[in-house]
Amino acid sequence: MDLAQLTRDLEALVEETRAALAAAPDTAAVEALEVEVLGKKGRLTIVLRGIGQLPAEERPLVGAVANRVRGAIEGEIGARRTELGAAELESRLRAETTDVTTPGRPIRRGSLHPSIEAMAEIARIFGQFGFVVYESPEIEDDEHNFQMLNIPPDHPARDLWDTLYVDVPGHLLRTHTSPGQIHVMRTVKPPIRALLPGRCFRYEAIDASHGTEFFQVEGLMVDEGTTLGDLRGLLDEFAHAMFGAGKKTRFRPGYYPFTEPSVAFDVECLVCGGPGCPACKRTGWMTILGAGMVHPVVLRHGGLDPERYQGFAFGMGPERISMLRHRIHDLRLFLENDLRFLGQFR
Ligand SMILES: [Zn+2]
Repeated sequence: MDLAQLTRDLEALVEETRAALAAAPDTAAVEALEVEVLGKKGRLTIVLRGIGQLPAEERPLVGAVANRVRGAIEGEIGARRTELGAAELESRLRAETTDVTTPGRPIRRGSLHPSIEAMAEIARIFGQFGFVVYESPEIEDDEHNFQMLNIPPDHPARDLWDTLYVDVPGHLLRTHTSPGQIHVMRTVKPPIRALLPGRCFRYEAIDASHGTEFFQVEGLMVDEGTTLGDLRGLLDEFAHAMFGAGKKTRFRPGYYPFTEPSVAFDVECLVCGGPGCPACKRTGWMTILGAGMVHPVVLRHGGLDPERYQGFAFGMGPERISMLRHRIHDLRLFLENDLRFLGQFR
């Protein structure tokens, strides 16, 4: 290897590269050629390895030639890449035309979750009677969830609510929306017409009619001279608006520690209309909510004088209302987030 040979090799490389570039059909071919010639294991590197065999005084000369050759090749590759890139862009722009007359893709509309839909409908109906929606905390203390609602620590009715406790001592996930009654009575002066929708939590085995998480809507009315007759009239109006005008309703005796008297409110079976069927367990009636006159102890805990004020409260599960309205048989559907189920409620 001598200087003349090396210089010839380099010039030959420039020529070959130039010919290959001219033949390159696209930018991908240019990229490949760049690696082949200029890459770490490229042909230029291989030629330059010969420098080591030259006498020391000739090496700078070759170095200068090599730099010029590298610069020339880089320049030609860049120019060819720009040229081919522009042509590729041009042909893509020509091929990918936009047909502005193509119909658009339909936009999928979301829908309300049936629990939310039922709560909105409940709030709409009671809103016509002057009821206003209030919020109440999901984490409560034992006092609000139980004691102020006339359920002392040793009360057997505590067994009705299997409670989920949180890490903070004395606190729990509310088992019902009823503690909201206390909050409202302590912040709003009578006359009170409050609706308290929200999520409740119980430590239950999950089956077709029980879940650990469910919604409840609590109602509370407090005023002077409020009677059980007012409650009955209001609930009749609600049942007719929700399930259809003229539906028969009835009160049955019920039990809640925070109301006295307590009632269960039934509407005639929405499936058979009275004679009895499996859906109503052959009774002809379906229970839609529990209610009663606010217990004087609860009024007092709310800061109100039971000698002056009376009130009634009611509580219902929007899922139950929705199940009755839409003939849904399994509560678990409300929590599974299956879009085939949820998409049916617009
Ligand atoms: Zn029936």
